Amino acid sequence: MSKRSRESHARLEFDDAVDGNHSLAEALETELRHERQRAQIAEAALRRAQAAVAFAGRVLKEHRNDGMPDDVDGAWLQETALACGLLVQREMDGPCMEEACACAEVNSGWPVTCFFLSETGAEAIRAADETEGNAHAA
Ligand SMILES: [Zn+2]
Repeated sequence: MSKRSRESHARLEFDDAVDGNHSLAEALETELRHERQRAQIAEAALRRAQAAVAFAGRVLKEHRNDGMPDDVDGAWLQETALACGLLVQREMDGPCMEEACACAEVNSGWPVTCFFLSETGAEAIRAADETEGNAHAA
């Protein structure tokens, strides 16, 4: 191999290495971005689970009533679900449900503040639906 040919060959190998490193860096950046997205999803799921557990704890604590188990008040329950992020409230100019709006029946006139399940609340309801059949299995 001539000197010129060796230099040309080395140059090609160098360019391949640079291209290889460039695509490796891109692959690592993509993987890192995906890993961060997975971490954000996991953190959000953890926050929802923590909120649901905090709500369950407050309800259980209210019911346990320092050793004298008692009824849990509905208005208190709603405020607690709101405080724990299982419900969200929204100002409505019309019924929040197709056929009725319990919020409007309690209040007179519009707008009225209606309560909706948050993502956490909906997830908690789904978990309740899934476990109601085997609530004592745990
Ligand atoms: Zn309503």
